[in-house]
Amino acid sequence: MRRPLDIAVFILIGSGFAVPFASATGPDLIRLREDVFRLASPEFEGRRGEGGRAAGDFLIEQLQEIGLEPAFGDRFDQEFASGGLNGRNIAARLPGTDPEQADSWIILSAHYDHLGIRGGQLYPGADDNATAVAMVLEVARCLMDGPNRPSRGILFVFFDLEEEGLLGSQHFVRQPPVPLEQIGLFLTADMLGRSLAGICENMLFVMGTEHSPGLRPWITNASAGLPLEVGIVGADLLVIDRSDYGPFRWNQIPFLFFSTGENPVYHSPDDVPETIDYAKLTAATTLIERFVRQASSADALPKWDTDRTPWIEEAEAIGMVLAQLLEHQEQLRIPGPQRLMMRGMVGRIALWVEEGAITTSQRSSMVRIAQVVLFTVL
Ligand SMILES: [Zn+2]
Repeated sequence: MRRPLDIAVFILIGSGFAVPFASATGPDLIRLREDVFRLASPEFEGRRGEGGRAAGDFLIEQLQEIGLEPAFGDRFDQEFASGGLNGRNIAARLPGTDPEQADSWIILSAHYDHLGIRGGQLYPGADDNATAVAMVLEVARCLMDGPNRPSRGILFVFFDLEEEGLLGSQHFVRQPPVPLEQIGLFLTADMLGRSLAGICENMLFVMGTEHSPGLRPWITNASAGLPLEVGIVGADLLVIDRSDYGPFRWNQIPFLFFSTGENPVYHSPDDVPETIDYAKLTAATTLIERFVRQASSADALPKWDTDRTPWIEEAEAIGMVLAQLLEHQEQLRIPGPQRLMMRGMVGRIALWVEEGAITTSQRSSMVRIAQVVLFTVL
């Protein structure tokens, strides 16, 4: 995830019903753990420069081993130069089984670059973003191995130079391997193995449904029975585009952004593979795999929605996060006046939830407070 220029935020919740397409062989914790350790190992030098090049080669080998086709003609990589830097996106395709949906693609992605070696220190980037790269590989394996191959095509993409201002994803939308109007849904994940502020242990945030409310029931379905609290919240809580969904959002392509949130070891040499929560990563990967199965087999994908009607589940999620942070107010060193503000908001959210509705102006006040709080605790 790239560093915020200004303030940042988040939030979460879920429940569920039946899962339509459970795979015979679901995501595997051991394989996810192996991939995170490998990607975060000193061999790849924090996935920048020569080490980044080697990490890209490793990803190409994995995609070939899984049995996917190259996405860029006969190549798995897309070289680019941007902002005085040389980068390389890596991508593969899994064609859909339904010829009628041959012009409708879903992208599942994660950035694979990190910060490299700085001042002689290795920045392994285990959570940011080896976890989500491992997730994409594992979902690809499950879709190839399991029954019910998707009827709609899927592109598996690993972006480079996300940390330098989303350079890889910006280049990708300038030179996409399929026409942009054929990309019906863009999914990306950034940091899936820790917890927001080191506090919200079971929470997984899913952002972006403000532009495609029709995706919410699919997320809820996909979360059934998993040990996660899924917070479906607006991407505007983050103030700026914090990951590769940005260039797709600018093009009004429906998107989702999955993240377990910013943690105290964010962008530090302590973001090591030994302290990742692999059970949580496995649960998040399972949710995303189920979601991709549902979306890739749906008759139609939700279109971009400019309406942005507030939804009460978002308030519920934000209320839950504020309450959890307040429980740790000493540890988080939340100043007194801010505690009062947070308690007031938790109370107002409880009333809105009771009424079952929230207005646009109520949402604005809630988002402002959430943004200030996240800026304080992160
Ligand atoms: Zn980052």
